[in-house]
Amino acid sequence: MPDVPFFYGNDVPLEMHKVRIVQKLNFPNVDQRLDAMRAAGNNTFLLNNRDIFLDMLSDSGVNAMSDRQLAAMMQADDSYAGSETFARLDTVMQDIFGKKYFLPAHQGRACENILSQLLVTPGSVVPTNYHFTTSKAHIVINGGEMAEILIDEGLDVNNTHPFKGNIDIKKLRNVIDDFGPEKVAFVRLEAGTNLIGGQPFSLANMREVREVCDAFGLLIVLDASLLADNLYFIKTKEDMCDGMSIREITREISDLSDIIYFSARKLGCARGGGLCLDDPDLYARLREYIPLYEGFLTYGGMSVREMEALAVGLEETMDMDMISQGPHFIGHMVQMLDSEGVPVVKPAGGLGCHLNAMEFVKHIPQTEYPAGALAAALYIVSGVRGMERGTLSEQRDEGGEETLAHMELLRLALPRRVFTLSQIHYAVDRIRWLFANRELIGGLRFTEEPDVLRFFFGRLATTSDWQDELVAKFKADFGSNC
Ligand SMILES: *Cc1c(COP(=O)(O)O)cnc(C)c1O
Repeated sequence: MPDVPFFYGNDVPLEMHKVRIVQKLNFPNVDQRLDAMRAAGNNTFLLNNRDIFLDMLSDSGVNAMSDRQLAAMMQADDSYAGSETFARLDTVMQDIFGKKYFLPAHQGRACENILSQLLVTPGSVVPTNYHFTTSKAHIVINGGEMAEILIDEGLDVNNTHPFKGNIDIKKLRNVIDDFGPEKVAFVRLEAGTNLIGGQPFSLANMREVREVCDAFGLLIVLDASLLADNLYFIKTKEDMCDGMSIREITREISDLSDIIYFSARKLGCARGGGLCLDDPDLYARLREYIPLYEGFLTYGGMSVREMEALAVGLEETMDMDMISQGPHFIGHMVQMLDSEGVPVVKPAGGLGCHLNAMEFVKHIPQTEYPAGALAAALYIVSGVRGMERGTLSEQRDEGGEETLAHMELLRLALPRRVFTLSQIHYAVDRIRWLFANRELIGGLRFTEEPDVLRFFFGRLATTSDWQDELVAKFKADFGSNC
């Protein structure tokens, strides 16, 4: 275990906060959940929150705020231009990241839009440890492509490499060779690599990436949306960082980056986003897009209240008490499931617990969306909403064929400081039951399939009446009221 004090009995994580505002939850019974899932076309994105017990869809915009954040929101200075709130946020950004310029944006993908419009040209390539849905979409829309150059261990769900988000330096050199450095728009490094299970990169790896980029005059763009988790893992797993404070690690990561962008729906527990950088020419060119797509330079589409919350939230992110809570709870959940043989992504990452659907429901072919089917089944038997991250989240190729995903994951996100340990235990208990009854889960097929980002709005039907059988078995074991 890491050298942090927040455990008792060795492995039970201890919250370093208390709950002062609560929201009542609904607990629909299994028949109501079956109806809701059918009405939602077996797509968890289309469920209504009122029909959900534990919402583990995402950590985006739903992290619990602190009393200090709420207090700061009351003092926001509303003005179209030149607000005091922006000055406060700008100061915090400079203090933490040490970059000269900060540009606000309404959320993370807005930064991706602006960066891609400026830097990505037709035929260019963006080498990256791994893609994120929105970042890839913006690069492709501007005529570029992404080259995924993650270390091989990163896609092996059973490999316990501590830094599965690392870039393979040899693969990076190969991409630069193949395309020529002039065709490399920038190198994108994603903190807490989202789609492979919230897995971190190491500081040592980032230093190596910097060396290569320096040799070819390439920019490093850091997607810092999940930086908080990555900081925790660097601090606890990377020996050379043992003596460094979170603030020092952050500063070095920032110094190694040319441009940093982030979603404040994750980083800083607020809602919004932004970019920071040192280069005055790049700044001047990026700045032009902000009034066009976001808003004036001193709010960029964010409400001033959220900006105040973000300023405090970023400060709080420099505190181990704060950034350890997510990884500790996720680690606990992964350990409980793993000890019972339930296939999960290891080691536990940030962001959430990821069930490996390829193993969990290995009788379902990828063309019948095993992770999507598992998401539907888990909701029906528990009221827990997760997110499919597999073939369903991919797009068909030009010939209309399925693009089979590298991994079929059901992500159960743990928004920071939101759930109690008994709620985690409830989720584990239902997952355990579902695993014991996994043969009852069947596949899905599209009934409405949008061309772009189909996982958001698409509707699906079951390939057999497996959900009725699953519910019948559930009622036999738990009764109708659960
Ligand atoms: C969420 C996320 C984004 C997009 O941010 P939004 O605020 O949702 O637009 C980009 N990159 C990563 C790694 C993310 O997790």
